[in-house]
Amino acid sequence: MAVPRIIPRAGHPISRGYIDPDALRILYRLHRAGYQGYLVGGSVRDLMTGRTPKDFDIGTNARPQEIRRLFRNSRIIGRRFRLVHVFFDGGKIVEVSTFRRRPDVADVEPGGEGTEDLLIREDNTFGTPEEDALRRDFTVNGLFYDIATFAVLDYVGGVDDLEARTIRTIGDPLTRFREDPVRMLRACEFAARLDFQMEDGVLQAIEEARGELRKSAAPRVAEELLDPLRRGWGAQTYALWSKTGLLAVILPELTREIAEGPASPERETFWRMLADADQRRTTGEAIQEPALLGALFLPLVFGAVRRGHGKLDAPKLLATLEQVVNPIALRLSLPNQAVHFIKHGLYTLGRLTETRPSDAAARRLVTKAWFPIALSLLSLYSHASGRYGEALAAWEEVMTRAGKKVKPGEDLSHAAPFPEALVPPPALLSRHEIPLPTASRNDDGRNRRPRRRGGRRRPAPPAR
Ligand code: ATP
Ligand code: MG
Repeated sequence: MAVPRIIPRAGHPISRGYIDPDALRILYRLHRAGYQGYLVGGSVRDLMTGRTPKDFDIGTNARPQEIRRLFRNSRIIGRRFRLVHVFFDGGKIVEVSTFRRRPDVADVEPGGEGTEDLLIREDNTFGTPEEDALRRDFTVNGLFYDIATFAVLDYVGGVDDLEARTIRTIGDPLTRFREDPVRMLRACEFAARLDFQMEDGVLQAIEEARGELRKSAAPRVAEELLDPLRRGWGAQTYALWSKTGLLAVILPELTREIAEGPASPERETFWRMLADADQRRTTGEAIQEPALLGALFLPLVFGAVRRGHGKLDAPKLLATLEQVVNPIALRLSLPNQAVHFIKHGLYTLGRLTETRPSDAAARRLVTKAWFPIALSLLSLYSHASGRYGEALAAWEEVMTRAGKKVKPGEDLSHAAPFPEALVPPPALLSRHEIPLPTASRNDDGRNRRPRRRGGRRRPAPPAR
């Protein structure tokens, strides 16, 4: 068993004052009960670099049942990874997991028949702290903070890499990326958000293995696509994904518009929109997720127009949206509701640019749940392109007068009920047959058959 490099309290910047008090209580209770209690993963990385962690994950040698017994307000969750969620007031959850070791590589060959079972069993193999560090993705994500000594424990060379501002996989990059191709996206994301360099081996391995990203589960990829946009480092992350060729694997349609061929004003507009969205995020302005995703679809809509649809009247815009959004939404398993909001947002954006609030019919747009999405898109587009300034000002004023306000962090896809389907007015329908979104997919992106209440119907019992 290897001995970690130990950085004593005096040698690192992590003070208990920066640790979430509830996470700290959990660490202390584990320690008092005779278990190891470590802060693990992203929180240690962020505290070491003076950032505010998103969440405080805890690692321990206590088994899930033992953790469960220590915390009344907890629940064991997960089928594959059995970890414990400890609940606090206000919906806060702290995740506590037993140290695990890396599953055998041969068992996690993705996509193979019957591997699911192996995955389940192997992922639950508990391990030592060292094994738990080694199973993690990047050295900077493999550090522990030990509540017993207040020291940072480094089994993987993470401290050196933090100092050298380097993203390096734990172990051979090609192997680690083949095990889980989503790690390639994460490498770029961490490089972008921390302003670190990816180590040469990482870049070479991405070049070699990037095609394998197609094998990864669509919802995981979609989540990675959204996360940097949501958190304010979208432009840098997308630039790295584009540069490393990863974007061309997951979003070839977008890549064609924004990264291939000669430079164009539209392309610059796209990158400026992402940078502007990031900037707004850091100042606390809310841009809802469908608007962020809508920004990714906008170059495709423009591309379709350029390639022959001509000027976009309403029916053409509707048809174009179906053609542009549906295949990607399907491929990425985007939740149906989010897709509706994206289409509504883009469609309404078209309306906002061609009508003014002085038109009574147009003013009703403000009452729609997706109006703020369209307005965010108009605002981003207008600032990035220098166009539609007047329309933006007019619609923003209406929005303010209507007292509509978007709260930062508001997640529309869950909060707002979806009011109605995108049903074009009858006049449009009669001229153009536009397929409406019909798939009955649930929020988690899986297709489910509607279940009959009370299960299968049985024949009525014979009357006595
Ligand atoms: P943040 O939550 O701020 O985005 P994070 O580092 O905490 O960053 P998470 O996705 O929350 O990222 O994962 C927590 C930790 O779990 C990571 O720091 C890393 O140690 C480990 N981890 C996450 N995803 C993987 C993966 N695909 N392969 C190996 N280890 C992973
Ligand atoms: Mg995290």
